[in-house]
Amino acid sequence: MNLIEIYQRLVEHFGRQGWWPAETEFEVIVGAILTQASSWKNVEVAIKNLKAENLLSPEALLKANEEKLQRVIRSVGYYNAKARKLKTFIEFLYENYDGDLEKLFDQNIEKLRSELLSIWGIGQETADSIILYAANKPSFVIDAYTARIMSRLGLAREDTSYYDLKKLFELQLPEDLELYKEFHALLVELGKNYCKTKPLCDKCPIRDTCEEWKDSLKKK
Ligand code: SF4
Repeated sequence: MNLIEIYQRLVEHFGRQGWWPAETEFEVIVGAILTQASSWKNVEVAIKNLKAENLLSPEALLKANEEKLQRVIRSVGYYNAKARKLKTFIEFLYENYDGDLEKLFDQNIEKLRSELLSIWGIGQETADSIILYAANKPSFVIDAYTARIMSRLGLAREDTSYYDLKKLFELQLPEDLELYKEFHALLVELGKNYCKTKPLCDKCPIRDTCEEWKDSLKKK
């Protein structure tokens, strides 16, 4: 089964996910930073609090007191560091692009990715999430679920790098924004529901193509 067939199987099983759950591009960026090592449930609480305090805009975040920001996003782990990361991003945006996201996004993917990666607190997964879901440009996102699934399927090694996994998807898939958005969301859904630390393979919609599942049958 190739990646497109796996994608189709996942869509049939889980339905379309419609990611990213946010009202604005800026909210996507804030969510992508806050969700680092935190559950989405806790991020939702922080986003709700930011909205209630009218802090979910570039201008408001630039002016916000950092200690107040820490209190407002307290529901996510590492909230001191994450408040600093939000501030660092917003300072970068004002220093280089007059606080205008459209100006930041108005460059090709490689340049945008390398600029985002130069900002303290933004790693590859966060950068690609911002490019894909906020800038609306096709840059495939890899997360821990995707790495685990690909290794169990036998399509990558456990130690395959983030960048190599990303290129594996991008070279095999058509360069299609909506496909990239949906596929990443569906892999997260598969990881959360079935391909957990202890996998629930009997319910998995792609088990017939999975090396881990085939190996487990041989051991029975
Ligand atoms: S069959 Fe099991 S190990 Fe393979 S992808 Fe599905 S849940 Fe993961």
